[in-house]
Amino acid sequence: MNIHEYQAKQLLSRYGVAVPRGKVAYTAAEAVDAANELGGPVWVVKAQIHAGGRGKGGGVKVVRSIEEVRDAAQAMIGMNLVTHQTGPEGRQVKRVYIEEGCDIARELYLGMLVDRETGRLTLMASTEGGMEIERVAADTPERILTVDIDPATGIQPHHARRIAFGLALEGRQVGAAVKFIMGIYEAFVGLDASIVEINPLVVTGAGEVVALDAKMSFDDNALFRHSDVIELRDEDEEDAMEREALKHDLNYIKLDGNIGCMVNGAGLAMATMDIIKLHGGEPANFLDVGGGASRERVTAAFKLILSDPHVEGILVNIFGGIMRCDVIAEGVVAAAREINLNVPLVVRLAGTNVELGKKLLADSGLLIISADTLAEAAERVVHAVEEAA
Ligand code: ADP
Ligand code: MG
Repeated sequence: MNIHEYQAKQLLSRYGVAVPRGKVAYTAAEAVDAANELGGPVWVVKAQIHAGGRGKGGGVKVVRSIEEVRDAAQAMIGMNLVTHQTGPEGRQVKRVYIEEGCDIARELYLGMLVDRETGRLTLMASTEGGMEIERVAADTPERILTVDIDPATGIQPHHARRIAFGLALEGRQVGAAVKFIMGIYEAFVGLDASIVEINPLVVTGAGEVVALDAKMSFDDNALFRHSDVIELRDEDEEDAMEREALKHDLNYIKLDGNIGCMVNGAGLAMATMDIIKLHGGEPANFLDVGGGASRERVTAAFKLILSDPHVEGILVNIFGGIMRCDVIAEGVVAAAREINLNVPLVVRLAGTNVELGKKLLADSGLLIISADTLAEAAERVVHAVEEAA
């Protein structure tokens, strides 16, 4: 789950991470009140969407009067903001953050993430703040400093000092940075984050170390123990289909292809997507209907797959272990009837009562293409989609 910049800053400041003062606003009038409360002489009006690159897209504006705050907020709220992270369709801005202007001496980068290779939390820092870190990593990887944290010890001041010196901080900036970095780590672990990114981390003219931007993502599997984080969810920023899936307890991730997949088990779903690609097709989604694929769930899953206008064929791949294949077949037939299925449907069943399941599919009178093996199923759905096109 992702949250907005201002929410991340609020959370991080609880852990002693220094952030500028600011207030969120949903209307231009609220923005004016916020600016008056903060006091000038310089404010920054920042569009709040779950995407970076706002500065370049016109979503971050430095202003010097209350009138300009109003104008900037007026212009931003309701605008469709396009950045390199939103894709060409952009995102509608519904709230803005009014922040005190900061006297920037240096813009640096600080990130923390779970490094799958080392299996540890890793701090990443760079003197190239304000730039896309992916680009820095590609063009000048020597400018990125990484420090792994051993989970047995947790973060130690020497980890943070290594980053501070690597960023060429001096004098009392080092102490401020150590406090800052330790705070980032404590917040990351304490809130079960998956990413914290401060870009830019700035050194101010007065030598302070401050988070000027903040991005945080959280591990969905740990949200149950952070009710305060769940409250920060902004449904407007989430994919409508993924939200619908969540309601039915379906693990659904939308992809760019045209072959919808319905599979039980995450591993089998991954394998199914792989084999579709191997046969020249492109999966339209990842979908794990879970162990207890009831008729209701299968119907919900079909509806979800078909609500994606790019879907031109569906592959159902179910292993009946705990679930019996005949029950699944009944679910598939009932769902296909209920929703008036109008794209080719390939079904591969394996496991308990498979023969009975196949007979139910064959006797249904529906145009269901049956397959015995996974390879056969993938081949048939790719072929059927090509034929129909
Ligand atoms: P994004 O990464 O989405 O473009 P940022 O929050 O990083 O948004 O802002 C972009 C740039 O705007 C920053 O690199 C910084 O130069 C400037 N900026 C952002 N917030 C402030 C602020 N409070 N005071 C002064 N400049 C700011
Ligand atoms: Mg930024």
